[in-house]
Amino acid sequence: MNEKTIPYKIYLEESEMPKQWYNVRADMKNKPAPLLNPGTLAPMTAEELGHVFCDELVAQELDDTTRFIDIPAEIRDFYKMYRPSPLVRAYCLEKKLQTPAKIYYKFEGNNTSGSHKLNSAIAQAYYAKKQGLKGVTTETGAGQWGTALSMACSYFDLDCKVYMVKVSYEQKPFRREVMRTYGASVTPSPSETTEVGRKILAEHPGTSGSLGCAISEAVEAATSAEGYRYVLGSVLNQVLLHQSVIGMETKAALDKYEITPDIIIGCAGGGSNLGGLISPFMGEKLRGEKDYRIIAVEPASCPSFTRGRYAYDFCDTGKVCPLAKMYTLGSGFIPSANHAGGLRYHGMSSTLSQLYDDGLMEAVSVEQTSVFEAAEQFARVEGILPAPESSHAIRVAIDEALKCKETGEEKTIVFGLTGTGYFDMVAYEKYNNGEMSDYIPTDEELAAGFAGLPKVE
Ligand SMILES: *Cc1c(COP(=O)(O)O)cnc(C)c1O
Repeated sequence: MNEKTIPYKIYLEESEMPKQWYNVRADMKNKPAPLLNPGTLAPMTAEELGHVFCDELVAQELDDTTRFIDIPAEIRDFYKMYRPSPLVRAYCLEKKLQTPAKIYYKFEGNNTSGSHKLNSAIAQAYYAKKQGLKGVTTETGAGQWGTALSMACSYFDLDCKVYMVKVSYEQKPFRREVMRTYGASVTPSPSETTEVGRKILAEHPGTSGSLGCAISEAVEAATSAEGYRYVLGSVLNQVLLHQSVIGMETKAALDKYEITPDIIIGCAGGGSNLGGLISPFMGEKLRGEKDYRIIAVEPASCPSFTRGRYAYDFCDTGKVCPLAKMYTLGSGFIPSANHAGGLRYHGMSSTLSQLYDDGLMEAVSVEQTSVFEAAEQFARVEGILPAPESSHAIRVAIDEALKCKETGEEKTIVFGLTGTGYFDMVAYEKYNNGEMSDYIPTDEELAAGFAGLPKVE
């Protein structure tokens, strides 16, 4: 490599911010499987999807061929408030680990919502506004997505109805209040406000809710009110498309200093940050131009890639959504109470599932206490207090850097630092008190989840 000194933080100029999103599906030989109508099992048409989602987002969802899609100027203006985000050389972490590896992280936590989710929230709110809608509905688990969406909706003056998993609504009042501050209405789910919510409550009185239930309620709320559509913060193709801004910036920053990564690492919940981060690199790989090791990191308590099935499944508990083919643990699978709320979804993006099935990326699962150990190590030398979700990627980046220490290899590692963990202090408290446990589901528990998979031939 040349001798240009690499700064701690590589910032792009505003003018170097991507003007287009990159659609990795255009370069995939095996396209992700289509969403299916749960009644007829035929691929969902644009018209059917248009009852639930905004028209322009439906077009993006179904578009497997357009390689680059323009980012509207209004969205770019919003991005400019917190982008380009820095690509940081983790010099202090490298020194602490005494590794010859070079470690970089792309930091997406530098906005009030505290995560990368704002990149897609603002795009989805923009298209809803452009369509002349009154508002949007969504679900949120720990609250990162709901927070991002409430910020985006207030910017475009749209109504925002958030169904928040009841246990989080009660135990995480801070994010709830951030959402309300940005003007969103927040309803604990399951609730009496929807038919599916009432049904779930009748069947499971006193339930503390789940993401799958909240999705069903949000979809019903959108489809039963005039001028509303439903929006989702991960999993869907359109969300990966919007998040490609992370990868495009990362690649531009690396190219600027003639750096070629060997390993790219990201945490994977529904797959949006990872899909976005890797997209331009995966594109090169798919076109046979370059090769990279790409690693998805998931919690051992919710191991969709490493122990799941690649099959069509329901996306929600109430079974009102289309079926998606993905690596899944089954829509009835309820992960144990791990502290990375953003990584608790039972399924995985169809795009990433196909890439994984084609052997183009790897996946590992890691246990919670070792994740917090890595988080603490990172916070102490790099200054940023990472989100528990992001810390999954930190864990594996550190593991790979330590392998380099053994072998003496000077590999270049890039990982996605998706957000900050200031609202996760209860989890840090558990860790600091030595009260954190690791739960790994048994094969029998997973089998129970698989038994609920729909029969689709
Ligand atoms: C939601 C979230 C994730 C996981 O979602 P993906 O769609 O898999 O990216 C990761 N990190 C943070 C900070 C999150 O809020």
